[in-house]
Amino acid sequence: MTSHQSLEHRVRALLGNHELKVVLDSPEDDYRFEYYTTIVKDRKSGNSRQVRAYRLIDLRKGGATPEPWDVYDIEKQTGLVTNLIDVGRYRISRIVAGWTIKCPSCGKVVQGKIWSAVPKTCGGRGSKKCRQKLDDSLAEEIVIDDEA
Ligand SMILES: [Zn+2]
Repeated sequence: MTSHQSLEHRVRALLGNHELKVVLDSPEDDYRFEYYTTIVKDRKSGNSRQVRAYRLIDLRKGGATPEPWDVYDIEKQTGLVTNLIDVGRYRISRIVAGWTIKCPSCGKVVQGKIWSAVPKTCGGRGSKKCRQKLDDSLAEEIVIDDEA
């Protein structure tokens, strides 16, 4: 197996893993790709399902473009990301397995998957129920591989 093939193999495994958010940064740190899992609700059946998606973030100007190339397709994205790394000198800067949040009031720790939302209020129970408001800014990513 060539190094390109083994890279492609690894990229496919990472992008195909619904549990992981994969963050890819450009060599000049001006662009970032994020591959993640989101929940979509089927309009007809009303059932929810997990879908892989990606977005391009402009780190200099701000703003994000959802699915900048095309609708997510594992084979297409595997080829593109492998080339971004191999030819475009992009790097995988973070692999994230979810988030964790510690209530600033009672200290209760809650963890979630990458596709789940941070709770709006703490459900901790001490002598009385904790009603501390929580938000995304308190959450920390669970980084399983930091190659930056
Ligand atoms: Zn609390």
